[in-house]
Amino acid sequence: MNTSKIDYVTTGGAFDVIDFMEARPRLVAELLRVHVDDGTGHCRGCSWRQAAVPIHPCTIRWYAERADEGLQHRR
Ligand SMILES: [Zn+2]
Repeated sequence: MNTSKIDYVTTGGAFDVIDFMEARPRLVAELLRVHVDDGTGHCRGCSWRQAAVPIHPCTIRWYAERADEGLQHRR
């Protein structure tokens, strides 16, 4: 079960994280490059957190994608 994304959105904290990322386009690009499907449905960028068995797309990538969308709209 992965309900963490929904929790983050409903608590409003997601917007702070996305704002933080939108101010750092290079960080967003790096996160999108690293946090990719490793071919088994898990996140390669989160593979260091073996215990969590991160499902792709992970929460970090979800934030990065939202931030990237925001950056696209500003261009
Ligand atoms: Zn990840």
